[in-house]
Amino acid sequence: MHEVSMIKKIVELTLQQIEEHHAEFASVICVSMTVSDHLNESSVQSLFTSLAAHTPAEHAQLAIHWNPAVYQCATCGMQSSVWEYVPYTDCLVCGKMALPRTQAHEWSFDSIVLAGGAE
Ligand SMILES: [Zn+2]
Repeated sequence: MHEVSMIKKIVELTLQQIEEHHAEFASVICVSMTVSDHLNESSVQSLFTSLAAHTPAEHAQLAIHWNPAVYQCATCGMQSSVWEYVPYTDCLVCGKMALPRTQAHEWSFDSIVLAGGAE
């Protein structure tokens, strides 16, 4: 369950930021994620809700910027972007099978808005 450790990491980084900046809580957390078989808006939001519970991150809005998954044709090498995960797609050029190029689960922690505490 890679996505669980990923969300845990997001919560961890958020708590670290709150502490470093002497804030009381986080109001918005911005992250980027690549579409994959395990990651979609509702799965990520519900994991975040359960993992951030009872922490200063629990009421934060998790704003997710989604990146498309990149698929590459095994035959001609053509790459294409897919916004909704599928096991494979048809190459736009030659029609052969194109597979996900990045074994997704790629994400980054972009920014955070903190609130409360000493300025
Ligand atoms: Zn092709």
